Amino acid sequence: MSDSTGSVLVVNSGSSSIKYQLVDPTTGEARASGIVERIGEAAGSVRHEVGDAVTQRELPVPDHGVGLRIVLGLFDEVGPSLADAHVVAVGHRVVQGGPRFSGPVLVDAEVERQIDELSPLAPLHNPPNLTGIRVARELLPDVPHVAVFDTAFFHDLPAAAATYAIDRDVAAAYQVRRYGAHGTSHQYVSREVAAFLGRPLEDTNTIVLHLGNGASASAVRGGHAVDTSMGLTPLEGLVMGTRSGDIDPAVLIHLQRNAGMSVDEIDDLLNRRSGLKGMSGENDLRAVHQLAADGDEHARTALEVYTHRIKKYVGAYAAVLGRVDAIAFTAGVGENDDQVRAGALEGLAPLGIELDAERNAGRKKAPTIISTDASRTTVVVLPTNEELAIARQAVEVAGAS
Ligand code: ADP
Repeated sequence: MSDSTGSVLVVNSGSSSIKYQLVDPTTGEARASGIVERIGEAAGSVRHEVGDAVTQRELPVPDHGVGLRIVLGLFDEVGPSLADAHVVAVGHRVVQGGPRFSGPVLVDAEVERQIDELSPLAPLHNPPNLTGIRVARELLPDVPHVAVFDTAFFHDLPAAAATYAIDRDVAAAYQVRRYGAHGTSHQYVSREVAAFLGRPLEDTNTIVLHLGNGASASAVRGGHAVDTSMGLTPLEGLVMGTRSGDIDPAVLIHLQRNAGMSVDEIDDLLNRRSGLKGMSGENDLRAVHQLAADGDEHARTALEVYTHRIKKYVGAYAAVLGRVDAIAFTAGVGENDDQVRAGALEGLAPLGIELDAERNAGRKKAPTIISTDASRTTVVVLPTNEELAIARQAVEVAGAS
């Protein structure tokens, strides 16, 4: 099936996985998608989906290069053929663009070097992102490769929101500032919300609540981010599946001094043994709800802490924006969990935010208004699509190259 509009191969390369999607950047259709998992372990796996057809392979995947070769082999074997799909660009998700990258860029050796240089700011993410870029460029040398940064949408945050109130020389020496994350999603959702509501983007103030395994909030004024909850790293802000979000930094000092915990142990605690998982034992909200329904007090508290934190950010960003035209829920939890949505906005009618229980009920696969007609702020569920957003940016950059 040849197609003149072309496709974009979107690649999200993690430390032990490669997620990919072949996207039609015009229609948003995912022509194929898949994931290579447990790279570097004795037993790996590859899952390749084309429509309802799933091809699953269990085999060792020693490194990212082999993983990507297997994926390209599957495109050849079960389709769709990449030659026929006319791949116009490969879009790579890169977590940390630091102070350097304010938008997507065509990858060359210099860009690779700069992504590498930013690794101390994102040691878990940038190195595998870069590995994915390197092997993909080697295997698909004739296609432009574009890096799309998770931080770019927040590159121009006002200094008031981006600056940590610490010694400015220390901050400058170690590039300590708030970079944000999930920017591709926040940008996509804030634009789609304005379009969905038929409002001009430049006159729309939106609070975006991206609630997935990772979770973040942003305040967007006229298409520009003016604040966001993630900071130097994706650890700050909302309560997440396994991450604490906001915490008094003195807790770290206390644990180091009094529990004898090392830096690595504290890192592990805050990133992997905190959040919903730390409080309830489960990181998936469906499981936390089940525990709470069965009477588990820890799970109930975890849900309260989770929704309370979101509510605090909504209030804070209402103050930052002054006028809030829309609040958008997105990602796994935001799109599917009506209890969290209701809990997070409960009692906010005095701020002009009022949910309609019937409209809010259930999972949402498409943009849906869930506030009452009387609500001053329109609350919507707006499914995110980071792959499509990356694909579109890749086409823009590749087209201009
Ligand atoms: P990621 O950050 O990994 O991209 P997602 O946006 O896919 O995460 O969100 C995953 C999370 O969404 C799950 O951990 C789970 O908590 C939540 N989730 C998914 N489906 C539902 C559902 N039907 N009800 C409640 N929560 C859900």
